[in-house]
Amino acid sequence: MINAKLVAQSHPNHQTIVQISETVAFGGKELVIIGGPCTVESLEQMETVAQHLEGSSVQALRGGVYKPRTSPYAFQGMGEAGLDVLAQVRSLYNMPVVTEVMSIAQIEAIATYVDMLQVGSRNMQNFDLLKALGQAGKPILLKRGLAATIEEFVMAAEYVVSHGNPDVVLCERGIRSFDNYTRNVLDLAAVVALKQITHLPVIVDPSHAVGKRELVAPLAKAAVACGADGLIIECHPEPEKSVSDARQALSLEDMVSLVDSLKPVALAVGRTISETKGVGFKPTPICCVA
Ligand code: PEP
Ligand code: MN
Repeated sequence: MINAKLVAQSHPNHQTIVQISETVAFGGKELVIIGGPCTVESLEQMETVAQHLEGSSVQALRGGVYKPRTSPYAFQGMGEAGLDVLAQVRSLYNMPVVTEVMSIAQIEAIATYVDMLQVGSRNMQNFDLLKALGQAGKPILLKRGLAATIEEFVMAAEYVVSHGNPDVVLCERGIRSFDNYTRNVLDLAAVVALKQITHLPVIVDPSHAVGKRELVAPLAKAAVACGADGLIIECHPEPEKSVSDARQALSLEDMVSLVDSLKPVALAVGRTISETKGVGFKPTPICCVA
């Protein structure tokens, strides 16, 4: 028995809907697909990504500006300058953006620029951060810890919700195991279990789960087939040149064809994927960049 008072499923039909923009919401019939590079590298890079994805069924952009790198000598992210890049593409391409928050000190700045704050695997049990995110005023994308049990994951979400923020989306991104052919082991059983034991939307990150681009598409399909509410997938204009996670990055072309190939799978399980708006689609900006 998991002792979660607020995120536990109390009624079989209760489903939390997490809205991140006027048109993008997690937990409904329509799946939410988030795409973009591991790391924001420049405005030009993010504009290329957004131009390619804006007319596709990808509804939101990702890109890290504060990066949790294994080595302190690896690129740590663009920081505030990267937030400015995200704000610009968000406004120019009318797509909501998601980025990772690593510390309490970053919350305020990040929350003013982006639509959803990601808590990475390495911080899933940073309890002070989780408590502070209860007051962030923006939806939270909570990734499962590298070696977290389902109970620990659920209780991490409970921290955010019990501190005042009901808008939490869970993300299964693979867990550590003995095998190292894939980067992690994608735990699809956790997706099914989390859908049963909580009322929160659950999405899947096949990119960090497998760590190899050629394995991403089949697992994305499997995630949709087993009931995930969406996906977050890494892609890059020049995948091999990604400053981080190059091996798992899809090309922008492969990203768009992957999303298209998910449509019949979604349909088979009673879900939909947003209609492609087509080449030449020009949205009205939602706000002006300061
Ligand atoms: C990321 O999304 O780039 C990331 C670092 O993910 P995770 O926390 O799942 O490793
Ligand atoms: Mn990454």
